[in-house]
Amino acid sequence: MRVILLGPPGAGKGTQAQRLVAKYGIVQLSTGDMLRAAVAAGTPVGLRAKHIMERGELVPDDVVIAIIAERISRPDAARGFVLDGFPRTVPQAQALDRLLVERGLKLDGVIELKVDEDMLLARIQKRVAEMTARGEKLRADDNPEVLKGRLAAYRAQTAPLAGYYDAKGQLKPVDGMAPIDEVTAAIDRLLAGSGPAPAKAVEKPARPRKPAGRAPKRGRRATRTVKKARGKKASTRKASGRRKGRAAAVKRRKPGRKSGRPARTRRNPSSRRRLTKAR
Ligand code: ADP
Repeated sequence: MRVILLGPPGAGKGTQAQRLVAKYGIVQLSTGDMLRAAVAAGTPVGLRAKHIMERGELVPDDVVIAIIAERISRPDAARGFVLDGFPRTVPQAQALDRLLVERGLKLDGVIELKVDEDMLLARIQKRVAEMTARGEKLRADDNPEVLKGRLAAYRAQTAPLAGYYDAKGQLKPVDGMAPIDEVTAAIDRLLAGSGPAPAKAVEKPARPRKPAGRAPKRGRRATRTVKKARGKKASTRKASGRRKGRAAAVKRRKPGRKSGRPARTRRNPSSRRRLTKAR
């Protein structure tokens, strides 16, 4: 399972990403988290990204593309991944497409969490208040001023990705304003319906299905019929081979006979009695 979560800051990408991780056993790849780790560790990438992030602007494409290229090659990403916060620009999306093609991988979908922008500020303020109450360390960019910048960056650089993926038939919009569990359920439904293309292409036309448990029974009966038929003459064998389906049975029914079953195949009365006794 390979999914992209698209949506503005505060849309709930992180929450839904964690649920996808739990459901599909895949890894969450959040460029925001990776960059924050790089900043904390003081790596060259971290030093480059620190001030850009604090202003709520986007880190250069080449930096995040290099991070993602390395990350999706690690063994733990082999089962799949949910990308949260990447891609964030059209060039990043194009680079991701190239990376996937090179590795022979396909995306299962791009989930767009659609939210009302006016609500975002309130949501993030609530998140900040809750974190403060729990005594957790706040993100440097989690303040109203920087948030406006993050939203502006989203509108200008990331929102066009919806059109990019829609044109490729990969966009799956979800109402991100619904309660968390409902958003999760909507995502589940969207992903359940999307499978790898070849599986869809070979899908058989729909026909009524019998309960799964009956299949082996039918198989056994068919074997028995073949065994029984072996001793018969060729003409009789052919006749039993033709005995298929209700329409055929009706055709073969003798006039005046209520049951379509030929007399010779009726269960003999003594065996029926034995069955009744056994019960
Ligand atoms: P948000 O809650 O705003 O979606 P993230 O944790 O995803 O925050 O990202 C925090 C910051 O990290 C962004 O504002 C940006 O500076 C930087 N960043 C994260 N992902 C990317 C990316 N794909 N491209 C450029 N910058 C990124």
